[in-house]
Amino acid sequence: MKELYDLIVIGGGASGFFGALTCKQIAPHAKVAIIEMHSKFLSKVRISGGGRCNLTHHCYEPKQLIKNYPRGGKELLSVFERFQPLDTLKWFEERGVKTKVEVDGRIFPSSNTSQTIIDCLLDESQKLGVELLDSVKVESIEKEDLYILKTNRQTFTTNNILLACGGFTHAGGFKFLDSLALDIIQPVPSLFSFHIADKTLQQLSGISVSKATVKIAGKKPEYEGPLLITHQGMSGPAILKTSAYAARDLFEMNYQFNISVNWANENEQTLRATMETYKNENRNQKIGNAKLFLLPQRLWHYLIEKATIDNELKWVELPLKKLNKLVEVVFHDQYAVNGKSPNKEEFVTAGGINLKTVEFKTMQIKNHEGLYASGEIIDIDGITGGFNFQAAWSTGYIAGMAIGQKLTQEN
Ligand SMILES: Cc1cc2nc3c(=O)[nH]c(=O)nc-3n(C[C@H](O)[C@H](O)[C@H](O)COP(=O)(O)OP(=O)(O)OC[C@H]3O[C@@H](n4cnc5c(N)ncnc54)[C@H](O)[C@@H]3O)c2cc1C
Repeated sequence: MKELYDLIVIGGGASGFFGALTCKQIAPHAKVAIIEMHSKFLSKVRISGGGRCNLTHHCYEPKQLIKNYPRGGKELLSVFERFQPLDTLKWFEERGVKTKVEVDGRIFPSSNTSQTIIDCLLDESQKLGVELLDSVKVESIEKEDLYILKTNRQTFTTNNILLACGGFTHAGGFKFLDSLALDIIQPVPSLFSFHIADKTLQQLSGISVSKATVKIAGKKPEYEGPLLITHQGMSGPAILKTSAYAARDLFEMNYQFNISVNWANENEQTLRATMETYKNENRNQKIGNAKLFLLPQRLWHYLIEKATIDNELKWVELPLKKLNKLVEVVFHDQYAVNGKSPNKEEFVTAGGINLKTVEFKTMQIKNHEGLYASGEIIDIDGITGGFNFQAAWSTGYIAGMAIGQKLTQEN
């Protein structure tokens, strides 16, 4: 006779742990297990934020917070009104994890290692009695009176399932979900760097500006933030934000598109006025020596060259036509993007379970009694900065809460 579980969580990541732990806390009598196909739990937490785990963001106003989600923001409002970054910090703090806020708003454990978060979640599972089953891969799910999960090891039966299997792009895919006939929005990558085959630009690899604006040719929105030049092209928050908001469009374009960069992050009028004032006040200075818009000198030289201006030329010698060209290059510098690579610090999948099919009060899938979903498997994704984990913690918490309350009432 197979043992009957009250809740099986599929996926031992951030969201699955929060779902299981919350449920078990509310319904201590419940039989709860997390099933993970890999030999290690929380493997994304381990590598996250360059090994430091950027667990959330210093943004405690739900209406502001949701602006950082290209997909799912509207739906997350009610979720964040119930469990937001302050609650995440409190949760970890109550379990002995100290955290720190960095200048850009990202929050990390004070220990500077993701292991602190992993240890905390594993300890809490042990304390509450959540079963952790590693190296067990779910291969199919059938619904009879109960859910029947076939795995590479054994068959499980359960009254409730929390799907917390992460992004849809992982190696094995999610064929095991086929029998549930879920409505899935096609998954595409988000948060990636742009390849730009410009050897002169690539030679500036490592140079960054603190605030640039990026725009995709033919599209209206502009995305601002720090921008980093890499040995393959461009990265940094402004580029990652562009990749996130335009994830689906860029996929359709097969990652071949044009962008323009505004290096000064100023409107054209202000940029021109600043340059003209500088010219008038520094008539005998060589243009190559100018300190304008906080641009690093090597980048400034590159832009001057692009405007076909000699570094050694003095401002007084600069004809209006060339000044116009320089304004254009700084304001509207154009590049052809011909590919992408994942941002090593953080990447996610856009797409997944259709938002319209999720009941966000409980995270239950509509018309699927006892089937819940949380985290990246849903069509929710955030920009870089701790927003993706926050969505995982919050949705996991709401699901765990709903299942726990249901189990308590049934008991
Ligand atoms: C390199 C990298 C760094 C990142 N850094 C950050 C960061 O610093 N801050 C941030 O906010 N976000 C970061 N992210 C994004 C963040 O890691 C994810 O959004 C988050 O982990 C999603 O949590 P989840 O629990 O939904 O899914 P996951 O963490 O992906 O967990 C899902 C789990 O389900 C398991 N699984 C899947 N299918 C099955 C199956 N059939 N049977 C059993 N188990 C299964 C998988 O093995 C996996 O362990 C990063 C992502 C990457 C790739």
